[in-house]
Amino acid sequence: MSVNLQTPIDYLKGVGPNRADLLRKELGIYTYQDLINLFPNRYIDRTRFYKINELQRNNADVQVIGKIIQFKEVTQKKGKRLIATFQDDTGSMELVWFRGQKWIRENLKLNKSYVAFGKTNWFSGKYNMPHPELELLEEHKKNIRTAMQPIYPSTEKLSNKGITNRAIIKIIQQLFIESGGKYNETLSENLRSELKLINKSEALFNIHFPKSQELLSRAQFRLKFEELFYIQLQLIIKNLIHKSKIKGFPFENVGDYFNSFFNHHLPFKLTNAQKRVIKEIRADLGSNAQMNRLLQGDVGSGKTIVALMSMLIALDNGFQACLMAPTEILSVQHYNGLVDMCNNLNISIKMLTGSSKTSERRKIHETLENGELQIIIGTHALLEDKVKFKNLGLAVIDEQHRFGVAQRSKLWHKNTSPPHVLVMTATPIPRTLAMSVYGDLDISVIDELPPGRKSVKTVHRYDKNRLQVFKFIRDEIAKGRQIYIVYPLIQESEVLDYKDLMDGYESISRDFPMPDYQISILHGKMKPADKDFEMQRFIKGETQIMVATTVIEVGVNVPNASVMIVESAERFGLSQLHQLRGRVGRGAEQSYCILMTSHKLSSDSKTRLETMVRTNDGFEIAEVDLRLRGPGDIMGTQQSGVLNLKIADIIKDHDILQSARYYAKKILQIDQNLSLPENEVILRTYKQLSKYKNIWNYIS
Ligand code: ADP
Ligand code: MG
Repeated sequence: MSVNLQTPIDYLKGVGPNRADLLRKELGIYTYQDLINLFPNRYIDRTRFYKINELQRNNADVQVIGKIIQFKEVTQKKGKRLIATFQDDTGSMELVWFRGQKWIRENLKLNKSYVAFGKTNWFSGKYNMPHPELELLEEHKKNIRTAMQPIYPSTEKLSNKGITNRAIIKIIQQLFIESGGKYNETLSENLRSELKLINKSEALFNIHFPKSQELLSRAQFRLKFEELFYIQLQLIIKNLIHKSKIKGFPFENVGDYFNSFFNHHLPFKLTNAQKRVIKEIRADLGSNAQMNRLLQGDVGSGKTIVALMSMLIALDNGFQACLMAPTEILSVQHYNGLVDMCNNLNISIKMLTGSSKTSERRKIHETLENGELQIIIGTHALLEDKVKFKNLGLAVIDEQHRFGVAQRSKLWHKNTSPPHVLVMTATPIPRTLAMSVYGDLDISVIDELPPGRKSVKTVHRYDKNRLQVFKFIRDEIAKGRQIYIVYPLIQESEVLDYKDLMDGYESISRDFPMPDYQISILHGKMKPADKDFEMQRFIKGETQIMVATTVIEVGVNVPNASVMIVESAERFGLSQLHQLRGRVGRGAEQSYCILMTSHKLSSDSKTRLETMVRTNDGFEIAEVDLRLRGPGDIMGTQQSGVLNLKIADIIKDHDILQSARYYAKKILQIDQNLSLPENEVILRTYKQLSKYKNIWNYIS
C-alpha cells in the first residue's frame, strides 16, 4: 500500500487547514481512513434530466435544465427569502434561497441555461427547489457524469462553506489517486471465499464510484458484513472474557425455602413459561459463572414470582437478595406482595426507600450488614453508600430501562465479588437489537400469560366522542369496575402538563360528581405519603376513578381496574402506551383501553395508534417502535456502537447481522484467541478497531 491511512486529513492535496478543520468538526473525519469510510448515503442518476412537467410529488433528487427569468424577494417574519422563477419549455418552477442571497443575485445570470439539481417540494400549486446546486449548462457538459453519483452525508455548515457534494467527491477521488486504489484486506480469505465477498480495495472503489449496480450491491454487502462481523466479534469476545474472569457464587443447593414455597405456598399454578424460565435461572445460578440474565416478559406475565423464587435459591445457599424497583409505588407493591407470599416461610424482608424513617433506616443498614436481614426491597435508596450487605448473592432489578448503566453497576460493586444479576423488563427488546446490543447476554423470555386473561380490547376515539366514552365509564363503574384516566407528562413542560392534569381532574369531577363517584389523583409532584394514600384508596376500591400522570405507568397492579383511558394518546410513545395498557386486563374481567386523541395526527402517531389497536403483542409493538424511532432511544444502544454504524442498518440488514454473528461465533469456537494463521487478518483488524472504540459496556 502506498499511503498510510492514519495520515491526518490536512495532508491530502486539495484539503488544507480550513477544510480539514471543517471536515473534523462537521463529519468527524480526522484521517485518510475516516475519509475512505465516509460512505455515500445514496446514489443518484446524473445522466437523466427532467422536464418541469415530468416532476412528481415524491421529494426525490432531480436535475432540470432551464433559465432563470426573474428574481423576487419575499420578506417574512423569519427573514428574507429569495425566489427565482425557473422555466423550461414545459412550464415553470421556483428556486428558493433562505441564505446567501447577495451572492446568488450577483453571480447567477438571467436568461442563461442552467442545470438545477436538488430536491423538489410541492407548495401552493407549484414545485420549488430550495438551495439548488446550479451549474451553467455549458460547464455541465464538460464534466463526466455517471449514472450513479454518490451523495455523501453533509451538514448545512459544510455546504455553506463551499464543501459541496461535488467538493467531497473530488477530495475522495484525490485520495484514490494518492493511494493507487490499494487498501489492506481486513477479512480472512476463508471468510471471503465462503461468502463470495469481493476484496477490500474493490469494495471501497465501488462503494464510492460504482462501476455497475451489481458491483455496488456486492461492495455494500461486503462492507456491511465486515462492519457487523467486527461488532459481533467484540461482543462475543467480551462475553467470553467476562465469563472466564468473573466467577459467580455457585448456588448448588435448592433447599428448604425454595422447596417449601414450591410445594406448599404457591399462590397459583405456574405457567409453563414461568417454569421454564425458573429452570433456566436455576441452572445458571448453579454453574460457576456469574449470572447476568435479562428476563423479558410482557406486562402481567408474572415476572415477580420468578424473581421471588430466584431470591429463595439465594437464601437457600446462605446469601442475601435484593429487589430494586424504579418507583416508590412499585417498591411498596412488591414489598406487600412478597411479604404476603412469604408469609409462612419465616424470612426477614424489609423495604428501603427515600421516605424510610431514619431510625428504620439505621436498623436496616445494621441488619443488612450483619446478615440478619435476608431480602431487601427498595428504590434507588438501595444504591446509597451506607447500604452494605453481608453477602449479597442475587440482585434483581425490575423495569430496568428506568435505571442507567452507572446506577446498576453501583449495585454490582457493593460486594467483594459480583452478585448474580437478574434484570426484568416488560419492554421487549426486538431480537435484532438484542443481538447487536447485548451480544451474548443471556435472555429468558416469558411468552405466555397466566390462564384466563382476556386480551385487552383497544380502541381509538377522538375528543368529540367524549360523551360516549363517559357513558361507557359510567356503565363499567356500575358493574363494579375501576377506571384509570392518564394524562401525558413530558418533562420539558411540567407546568403545562400539571395544568392539563388539573383541568382534566376538574372536568372529570364535574361529570362524575360526589358522592356517587370518588376520584383519586396521582402525579409526580405529590409527596410519597400522599401518593401512597391515594394509591391505597384506589387499591381498596374506595375510589372508582384514578386520574393520573404516567407515574402509574410502571408495574402498578390493581386487578379490579378494567378500563384505561389515555388522554392525548398521540403524545405518548408506543412502549409507554403498551405499558399503560398493561395496567388493565390483570383480573378475570374483560378490560378496555381507550386512546383519546384530537383530529390532528402525524403519520407516526397514526401508525402508533393503529399498532396499539391491532395487537397486544409486546414484541410486535417493540419492532414497530424500533422502526419508527430508530435504535437511538432504546436502552443500551448508546453503549453498543449500533448508533455509529457507518454502513449497516441493524433493522434493514438483519440477515447480514445474523450471518455475521454466525461466523464470528464459529471462528471463536475453533480459535478463541484468533491465533491460527488463517485468522491473522482478523486478529490484526480486531486489535486496530479495539484501539479506536470501546463498544460494550453492560453492567460491569
Ligand atoms: P409482571 O410480569 O407485569 O411483573 P406480575 O408479576 O405483577 O406481572 O403478575 C401479574 C399478576 O398476575 C399478579 O396479580 C400475579 O399474582 C398474577 N400471576 C402471575 N403468575 C400467575 C399464574 N401463573 N397464574 C395466575 N396468576 C398469576
Ligand atoms: Mg412487574
